[in-house]
Amino acid sequence: MAILPHSARALLKSVFGYEEFRTGQEEIIAALLEGGPVLAVMPTGSGKSMCYQLPALLEERLTVVVSPLIALMRDQVQQMKALGVAAATLNSMNSRPENEAARIALREGALRLLFVSPERLALDGLIAELRSASPKRLAIDEAHCVSEWGHDFRPEYRQIGVVAEALGGVQVAAFTATADKTTRGDIANKLFASPPRIFLHSFDRPNIELNFSPKDQPRRQLARFVEKHRGESGIVYCSSRDRTELLAEYFNAHGHEAVAYHAGLDQTVRNRNQDRFLQEDGLIAVATIAFGMGVNKPDVRFVAHADMPSSVESYYQEIGRAGRDGLPADTLTLYGVEDMAFRRRQIDGKDIPEDRRRFEHGRFNALAMLCEAPACRRQTLLAYFDEKVSPCGRCDVCTGQVAVYDGTIPAQKALSAVWRTGQRFGAAYLADVLTGAGSDAVSRNGHENLKTFGVGKELGKHVWISIVRQLFALGALQIASEEHGGFALTDRGADVLRGRETVMLRRDPEKRRERRLHTGPARPLDAGDERVLAALKRKRLALAREEGVPAFVIFPDKTLIDMAEKRPATLDGMLAVHGVGERKLARYGDAFLEALAEALD
Ligand code: ADP
Ligand code: ZN
Repeated sequence: MAILPHSARALLKSVFGYEEFRTGQEEIIAALLEGGPVLAVMPTGSGKSMCYQLPALLEERLTVVVSPLIALMRDQVQQMKALGVAAATLNSMNSRPENEAARIALREGALRLLFVSPERLALDGLIAELRSASPKRLAIDEAHCVSEWGHDFRPEYRQIGVVAEALGGVQVAAFTATADKTTRGDIANKLFASPPRIFLHSFDRPNIELNFSPKDQPRRQLARFVEKHRGESGIVYCSSRDRTELLAEYFNAHGHEAVAYHAGLDQTVRNRNQDRFLQEDGLIAVATIAFGMGVNKPDVRFVAHADMPSSVESYYQEIGRAGRDGLPADTLTLYGVEDMAFRRRQIDGKDIPEDRRRFEHGRFNALAMLCEAPACRRQTLLAYFDEKVSPCGRCDVCTGQVAVYDGTIPAQKALSAVWRTGQRFGAAYLADVLTGAGSDAVSRNGHENLKTFGVGKELGKHVWISIVRQLFALGALQIASEEHGGFALTDRGADVLRGRETVMLRRDPEKRRERRLHTGPARPLDAGDERVLAALKRKRLALAREEGVPAFVIFPDKTLIDMAEKRPATLDGMLAVHGVGERKLARYGDAFLEALAEALD
């Protein structure tokens, strides 16, 4: 393996202000410096960008970075400029003079990083310009966008391979945070002319807590969750536009600050909401999945799913937006039988070949299994990415909020109710039959006379609904009819009913024990530190407003926390703070020393 030159570590400190490389960065950077194609798969927040930023500075050569979202590119350019790095972006949202300035810098050979959207990259004129600037490397961010199997497929990404060849001899380095085996193979085939060296890192994000809960009273459940995180930044994902607006209103009415975000909003409103989310502390974005890819705010403290995501991959990607700074973050995913039916109907309604449909159902099933998992969530999640870990201790199953039991007998009762009522009724109806509670509909259908009527008296209606949902997630039941819903047995269901297979079920908690979640800094700050931290944040906000950049571009939370603890009194002392490099020291050092002095007065 190649060894990283000392100058790399020196740059890490002098430019970025960091003492150590994060796991994986060193070997990837070494491989990039050595040459040859590289594909790096690392989780969100692990510091992928550093892997191409640092070599560009070290070699003093141009790296062209392909990135799918303009907002993302702008952020990165802002952050790079704040560090004193020559960076620019070429995209359709730039003004003419902005694009012209970027082109001039490119011609003069001054740029180290040029961020380009994939659409732009393929334009003939640009290829010629790039060729004369002889870039050393083509870095492809969010490389999974090239895969048609992935959830973020971008047709423009398919051109990148061609462009790389047109640029001749340029090193191709692709980065992604999502890649199950299929997607990984796809990336390697489509972006590279020869097989890349692949660096695969653990997908585990140990700082993210994983919690799932069956939908009971979704608003209340969400309200309890965001209440625990009052004053922190977070995202709440919904499956429909209407719901984002309703929920945002609801949160606002309960004294939180929330904004809605979805593709149907007016562009200016949408941009304003996104900017507010990026720049302010403690705002909740209630959003559809249209929100997120361009958001690399490092201090998102929680992500909730008000509705079930569409696959394990999207789930992972979406919760991955929390805790990119490595500090503790919390997640909650609500799921219910309607969600499962909705997602399955969505897949059935798509105009796609049969094998593709089966594949998508399979993908969704994996998520349903994760929601109903009777074992550690992290184990189940990582197993999906072919990773084995021990129980994590930081999920709702590990912390004992979920009890598991042999549910074969109740499962048989429920399946028998499905069978005897003619395989066309939903969970609530089945529960009325099983508990013997009956209803007008039950009497109308004469189902009070069935053998199954009242065989489940020992359990409540809620429990039966949960069992039906779990049987659906386990693949023992399927949707009976596109139009009218209801459940029918699958082959597996028939096996369970005949006693050929056993099932483990989970007991839904009657009432959740409220746990104190340790969010915030890993080591709790004492009261004095908290006060100092608040003062530093105020200073940061003032500077951010002045410069019109997001707060984290000035300094991330981690830096302010470290500063509040170290309380440097001199510029030299300030340089020892995590995330303070020479450029930022020169620019903000005095301002923050002053803020510290005032706070400690
Ligand atoms: P990714 O693209 O993998 O999601 P980023 O490149 O956005 O992650 O990095 C996430 C955060 O980690 C950024 O704020 C970045 O500055 C920070 N970071 C990167 N490398 C290091 C390091 N070696 N030490 C400390 N922080 C780092
Ligand atoms: Zn666990």
